[in-house]
Amino acid sequence: MSQVLGIYRLQQVDSRIDQAAARLEAIRAILENDSAMQAARSTLQKAEADVREAEKALRASQAASEAQRIKLEQVEASLYGGRIQNPKELQDLQNDLASIKRYLASLEDAELESMLSLETAREAHQDADKNLSQVEARVISQNSSLKGEQDTLRNSLENLNAERAATYGTISPDLLQKYEALRQKRRGLAVTTISDNACDACGAGLTPAQAQAVRMAAQMVECPFCGRILFSN
Ligand SMILES: [Zn+2]
Repeated sequence: MSQVLGIYRLQQVDSRIDQAAARLEAIRAILENDSAMQAARSTLQKAEADVREAEKALRASQAASEAQRIKLEQVEASLYGGRIQNPKELQDLQNDLASIKRYLASLEDAELESMLSLETAREAHQDADKNLSQVEARVISQNSSLKGEQDTLRNSLENLNAERAATYGTISPDLLQKYEALRQKRRGLAVTTISDNACDACGAGLTPAQAQAVRMAAQMVECPFCGRILFSN
């Protein structure tokens, strides 16, 4: 295969790859930007944040109760340990104990509240998760034709990439470099055909000698205007 033919084939494959990739990207955007889906996603994110927040509150609540329980044990140990005999001190300890117990009771109430809040947050999270799955399923079924197209495109991309790899291997590194640079500069189209002695990409006219050289494909001819590599079928 001549280098010109090889690079032309590579261009054909690359153009099809570009088209398939662009369409896949458009489909992805359609599926992703569905507003119901976005709403369901943001509800789920909010529910996740609420669960984390409730877990944090519960941990703080538990730590406060725990600290108070330790205090309670210490006061009880002093009170019933037998080391303190002074009635006034014993009375003070009794008073401490009563107030610690009251405070602990209120902390335990708060802890229970925190547990309930966490449970509620987890339920809301589960609901949001389920809702997102349902919305996703609905969006996908509504866009089932898009899904079908997506599958087809993915398959053909796989084939195209294999075809590209095979073609790529037949072309010299220098030409590949030139080709890639041209693709960058010329919106993906580095190789183009000619019709009526003119470049099909930019319309620039060729001299009869240039057109003849393109048809002979014996050497690489570039469009004098856009610089693309020219090919004749
Ligand atoms: Zn041109």
